[in-house]
Amino acid sequence: MSDRFISLAHRTDCYHCKQVADQIITAMPYRAEVVCDNCGATRVFVPRIEDVSGPGTFEKPGCYPTWSLVSDAACRNCHGTHPHDLSIGCRNFTVRCRNCNFTHFYKFDLEFMAKDV
Ligand SMILES: [Zn+2]
Ligand SMILES: [Zn+2]
Repeated sequence: MSDRFISLAHRTDCYHCKQVADQIITAMPYRAEVVCDNCGATRVFVPRIEDVSGPGTFEKPGCYPTWSLVSDAACRNCHGTHPHDLSIGCRNFTVRCRNCNFTHFYKFDLEFMAKDV
């Protein structure tokens, strides 16, 4: 899909099944998801305008530590392929282009478990 912006796998402990499994991270302009490859636990994030990653704003104890990842992606602002910094926490998901600093902010929207896995 041409609207897919970033897709990568981050291998870590799943907060749901507690297994070390690939967490499949997909970011699109209108939606971002993290899906456990083992149990199918899915977290969905939706875009928001302002930065919600301020200290303590939406974080709650007992959830994931924030992941800091880097992925090459085609920037929608400066129109080149550049490394993007991803910061994924329980309540927020941000993607920032290192070249132009254009940043997508997402907030946690819902969570569900795949029933057919
Ligand atoms: Zn899992
Ligand atoms: Zn850019």
